[in-house]
Amino acid sequence: MNADSLADPPVADVLAIAAHRDDVEQTCGGTLLRMASRGLRTAILDLTQGEAGTRGSAEDRAREAAEAALLLGVGWRQALDLPDGAVENTLENRLKIVRILRLVRPRVVILPYWQARHPDHAAVAQLGYDACFLSGLAKAPAVRPTAAPAVRPTAPSAHPMEEPAEYGLPHRPFKIVYASLYADVRPSFIVDITPFIEQRHAALMAYRSQYANQPAGGGLFVPEEEIRERTFAEARHYGLLAGVRYGEPFVQKEVGLVDDLTLLPVQSI
Ligand SMILES: [Zn+2]
Repeated sequence: MNADSLADPPVADVLAIAAHRDDVEQTCGGTLLRMASRGLRTAILDLTQGEAGTRGSAEDRAREAAEAALLLGVGWRQALDLPDGAVENTLENRLKIVRILRLVRPRVVILPYWQARHPDHAAVAQLGYDACFLSGLAKAPAVRPTAAPAVRPTAPSAHPMEEPAEYGLPHRPFKIVYASLYADVRPSFIVDITPFIEQRHAALMAYRSQYANQPAGGGLFVPEEEIRERTFAEARHYGLLAGVRYGEPFVQKEVGLVDDLTLLPVQSI
């Protein structure tokens, strides 16, 4: 894990894209831990830096996010500069994500579910989907992002007619799944996070500026001791749906495909 992570990201198998720096820890941190335990490479792209939060500065959250990433076993994490609380699905923002997608080249992208209380979460679902589509277009992007950081050229001579080098070669993720923990929706599937629930909790608690007991925002925030009870209860609820102890829920838009009926998991009766 590169603490600053301002360098170009390495290639990863699974990329979680989220609005805010503790979203992944709350909705799919156990899944990232499970994927890492299977030897898969994982990465996180947070789209905002948390400047609108009631507690803590963006700098506090950057430090905490790096610590949480270490606990989640991800190889790379970075926050873009979209405005906290005002994430919009604009071409400029799509292009910022396309640049990352073409460097990370994930097979799977995790996005927040598209119906959410927080407008940023709903916006990221569509913004992330559109960026994944755009990233696969050989001729896109047609418009350069205005605020993208400088990057090293990648494969400048392999396809000289196709792409400006700084955008990398086209890449479209094979699979997009939506983390639906906070949505009132029946999940398509559950990931068993039972062995990783304590580690996921430790990663969430790395955000001390958000979750440690303190006066600021006391009426808004759940006391520290209740966070554990609440998050474990949610994980238990979703685990029970799939016959395991703790789980994280996801929605996929596609149907499932089965090879062997006798290997289908989750008991019916
Ligand atoms: Zn959030």
